[in-house]
Amino acid sequence: DRSEIAYFGAGPAPLPTPVLEEASQVLLNYNNTGIGLTELSHRSPEANAILSHTQTGLRRLLDIPDSDGPDGYQILFLQGGGSGQFSAVVYHLISVWIGELAKTKQQGLDAEVAKMRLDYLVTGSWSLKASQEAARLIGPEHVNIVTDARKARDDGKFGSIPSRDTWKPTPHKDDVALTYYCDNETVDGVEFPTAPSGPNLVADMSSNFLSRPVDVRAHAAIFGGAQKNVGTTGITIAIISNRLLPPHATLAEPQLLRKLHLPNGPIVLDYPTISKNNSLYNTLPIFDVWIAGQVMQRLLDQSPDTNTPRITAQQATSNHKSTLLYGVLDTYPETYTVVPDASVRSRMNLCFRIRGGDSAAEQAFLKGATQRGLLGLKGHRSVGGIRASNYNAVPVEAVEKLAKYLTDFAREQ
Ligand code: PMP
Repeated sequence: DRSEIAYFGAGPAPLPTPVLEEASQVLLNYNNTGIGLTELSHRSPEANAILSHTQTGLRRLLDIPDSDGPDGYQILFLQGGGSGQFSAVVYHLISVWIGELAKTKQQGLDAEVAKMRLDYLVTGSWSLKASQEAARLIGPEHVNIVTDARKARDDGKFGSIPSRDTWKPTPHKDDVALTYYCDNETVDGVEFPTAPSGPNLVADMSSNFLSRPVDVRAHAAIFGGAQKNVGTTGITIAIISNRLLPPHATLAEPQLLRKLHLPNGPIVLDYPTISKNNSLYNTLPIFDVWIAGQVMQRLLDQSPDTNTPRITAQQATSNHKSTLLYGVLDTYPETYTVVPDASVRSRMNLCFRIRGGDSAAEQAFLKGATQRGLLGLKGHRSVGGIRASNYNAVPVEAVEKLAKYLTDFAREQ
């Protein structure tokens, strides 16, 4: 039974039970229409109301500027997952970079394009993948690795964020089409304590979306798949600055990109197209948008005070839960080793080894956990070990149960 299980999966991840209960109803009959929500047209008035409710909820939670001017941001829903956004941000930001350049220069664009750089901060498996996708799309010569966190540790593995004075951003800001980072590295358990900076800052927030306030205004684009903190697998949220969209930005014409041997992205990942159509360019899975809206509404209800960022109540809960777990792990250093450096430990994905990675001990730990109804604790297949994901919908009681097990297991060693 669901109520006896504490689930720490890394994504897909737990959702609040009341939301799922209501979801099971709306699947059969939405708002007394006699039609289920997955059956309703994405262009129906009901669907439009859902879309707008979810967008408003997100704006309030993260204080996202709402205006048509250059300071405003659009909230888009796309498909193709976080991985789709690895490509989307490249397509879009090179189009902006070339488009702006072509306004002032008609001759010698080839030579200018040779200077174009995409700056990537590689602090874990997901930012690494994003940088590899950029290299695949436009060529490795355009990708500048500002920092590779693996080089900062003796073990050659992810688990740190090298200090800023060691970073090597592209020297000329005008050459930079985007500066990319992954706010929380799901596989490696590394989270930025504060956001980095750089021209056209792009953040992957797939695994820590809605867990703390975000300085949206410092970003050109923020994206995240819904399937961890926000909702069901199927939609990806992108928050895009109006400065990067027409009429505030000039984009490169497709034929110019072709001439310069740069790619044109697929239309379903094209931010201007999705934005112009309010995310209804093609069929949007409106059920997923509804789930996200319900999850957001619950967070707003937790934080009625409109004077502080509405996400701070959830932030306090997230901090409380992760502090509790790290506290136990640190109490038994002979049994547990937290993988990342203390200053960059993720509040969302707690990655640790047992007895220095002793596989028999880790198996025994997982087996004992399963017996107690503590599930989803196996580390990512690429790194092994244990990973406890502490997403928003993991209740405090589930974390307390895990903390108790961690203590009991360590004492038995
Ligand atoms: N970025 C991060 C931080 C992730 O954790 C994931 C998925 N676990 C992705 C991107 C890729 O997302 P998707 O599977 O939705 O493509």
